[in-house]
Amino acid sequence: MTGKTNIEEDLFIADILSRNKIIAMVGASKNWKRPSNFVMKYLQKNGYKVIPVNPSTAGQEILGELCYSSLEEIPIKIDMVNIFRPSEFCPSIAKAAIKVGVKTIWMQLGIINEEVVKLGEKANIKVIFDKCPKMEHTKLSGALGLAGFNSNLISSKRTITKSPPVALRNGGVVKSNELETLAIHAGTRPDSATGSRSMPIYQTSSYVFDDTDHAASLFNLQEPGNIYSRLSNPTISALEQRISALDNGLGACCASSGHAAQLIALFPLMEPGTKIVASSKLYGGSITQFTKTFKNFSWDAELVDVSDLDAVRLAVKDPKVRVLFAESLANPDGNISDISSLSEIAHEVGIPLVIDNTMATQALCQPGKFGADLIVYSTTKFLSGHGNAMGGVVVDIGNFAWNKGRVFSKLTKPDSSYHDINFYETFGNHAFINYCHASVMRDLGTTMAPLNAYLTLIGLETLPLRMKQHMKNAEIIAKFLNDHPKVSNVSWAGFKENNYNKLAKKYFKYGFGSVFTFSLNEGYEGAIKLVENCNLISHLANVGDTKTLIVHPASTTHRQLNAKQKESAGINDSMIRISIGLENYKDIKEDLNEALATL
Ligand code: PLP
Repeated sequence: MTGKTNIEEDLFIADILSRNKIIAMVGASKNWKRPSNFVMKYLQKNGYKVIPVNPSTAGQEILGELCYSSLEEIPIKIDMVNIFRPSEFCPSIAKAAIKVGVKTIWMQLGIINEEVVKLGEKANIKVIFDKCPKMEHTKLSGALGLAGFNSNLISSKRTITKSPPVALRNGGVVKSNELETLAIHAGTRPDSATGSRSMPIYQTSSYVFDDTDHAASLFNLQEPGNIYSRLSNPTISALEQRISALDNGLGACCASSGHAAQLIALFPLMEPGTKIVASSKLYGGSITQFTKTFKNFSWDAELVDVSDLDAVRLAVKDPKVRVLFAESLANPDGNISDISSLSEIAHEVGIPLVIDNTMATQALCQPGKFGADLIVYSTTKFLSGHGNAMGGVVVDIGNFAWNKGRVFSKLTKPDSSYHDINFYETFGNHAFINYCHASVMRDLGTTMAPLNAYLTLIGLETLPLRMKQHMKNAEIIAKFLNDHPKVSNVSWAGFKENNYNKLAKKYFKYGFGSVFTFSLNEGYEGAIKLVENCNLISHLANVGDTKTLIVHPASTTHRQLNAKQKESAGINDSMIRISIGLENYKDIKEDLNEALATL
C-alpha cells in the first residue's frame, strides 16, 4: 500500500520501478527458499543491481553480489532500499537510508510502519509499504498477465522487462476504464521480442527454460511464465487479460469452448457428492451438461426457476451446494436474471454466484458490478463475433473469499499434485485463476487454440460498436415481427409487456438482446417453411455472428425431446430462434417478409 488510489498507485509504482535501478536489499538471505532471495534473483534478472545488506552474512556473496552489514558501508550511490525486516526495525533502517540519499524506501509485503511514512514525507522521498517489487514488476511488465491476470494497465510501448529498464513517464503505461479503449488495447502491448503491434499468434506447444533453476521456479509456481501451451500461451493470456479487463475482473482462464469454460469454472469448486443449483432456463446444452454429463463426476444439479427467489433460497440451503449458476440473458428465450438478488442469496450461504454472460456481453452488462463472483462466456458467440472461432472463458472478479463460507477443498487444502501447496494461502485472491491454469488446464486439457485466441482478440476490438448495432437492428426486427399478422408472439425483453423488461432496464446499459424467439400462427410445418425460405438469413445452430441466423428448435436443437420436455424447456413447435446480425435492417426485414409471405 502507498495510501494512494489503485489508479494512482499503479502509475506511481511503475514510475518508481522504471527510475530506481540500484537497490539495497536489507535482510537479504542466502537461502534460496526465502522470499528475499527469490525477489533479489528476479530483480537481477530484470536489469536491476541489487546489493544485499545483512550483518550475519556480511563479507560473503549472495547471488554474485558482495553483502554489506549496513547501508552506510555500500560504496556506490543507491536509488532505493527494499526492506525485508520486521516493522520495528524499519525506522532505524529508514533513517540510515535517508542519510545515504535514497530516493525510495520500499517495505515488503506485510510490513507497514507509519513512522517510516512520516520520515519519508519529511525527507521528501517516496515510501511504499506492504508490497513486493517482484509482484508489482510482474504485474506491470505483463508477466503476471501470462497467468491470465489483468494488470489494469495498457501501453503502446514495448514491455519494461527489457534490461536495463528505461525511464519512461509513468513507466510507459496508462489506465482506462472505457470499454471501447479496453476492447482494443487491454492485454496487447507491443510484442516485447519484435515490437509487432498486432498480437502475434504464438503457435508453439512449449517454451525453453533459461536454466534448470528457472524451470524449477516455474514448476514450483514461484514465478509466472510459460511451460507448455496446455497450461498457458501468450496469445491466449493476452485474450484472458482483455476479457478480464472488460469485466473489470482480477483475471481469467480461457478454454476450448463455452462448455469447456463451464467445466473449468465449476471444477475448482466441486467435489464428488456436491451440488450445483442452476437456472431451469439455461441454454439447453448447459442443462444436458449439468444434469447428465456432470453426473459422471458425482456432481448433482438442481434446476430452479431463478425468477422465484424463495425457491432459489430454499435450494441453496442444502449444505452440499457449492455454486449458484444462471445466465444474465438466457438463450434462447431472453429471460433475464435478477443478478443482485441472486448474489445476495448465494453469499448468505457462502457460495459464489456464476453468471453466463454470453448473450449480453460486457457491452450490455458487467455482472461483477451486481455481485457476480465468476463470469463465464462462450466466446464463440458475440465476443469473437464472426462465427469463426470456438472458445470459452471464465473470469474471476476477485472478491470471493474462498477460505470462508462453504468448504472449497481444492482451493483451501494442501494440493498433493503440487507439493502440498495450499492455493489460497499461497496466492490469496489469485488462487482461483492460478488453480484453473495450473491444475484444471494441466489435467483436463481443455485448452483454447492460439489461432482462436487471436481471432477472438480481433473480434473483441469492435465488440462495443457491434453490440450497439446488433441492438438497433434487433429492435427494428422485433417490432416488425410483432406487428406481422402471421406471427403470434415475439419473446423480446424490449417490449413493455415482456416479463423481463424491468430487469433489462436495471441490468443492461443499452438494448434488450439480439437473440430472441418468435412463434407463428401456423405450427411445425409453417416454421419449417419459413426457415427454408430465408435466402439472406442463414439456417444454422449458432448465435452472435455478424450474419443474421435462424433455427427451428423443434426440428433441430430440441428434436430429441418429447412433448413434455419441450414444454419445460419453453419450446413450442412453431417457435423460431433468430440472432439478428449487422446487415442493413431493410434487407433482414425484406428476407423475413418474403419468407413469411410463402406461408
Ligand atoms: N452458454 C450459452 C448461453 C450458449 O448459448 C452456448 C452455446 O450456444 C454455450 C454456453 C456453449 O458454448 P460453446 O458452444 O462455445 O461450447
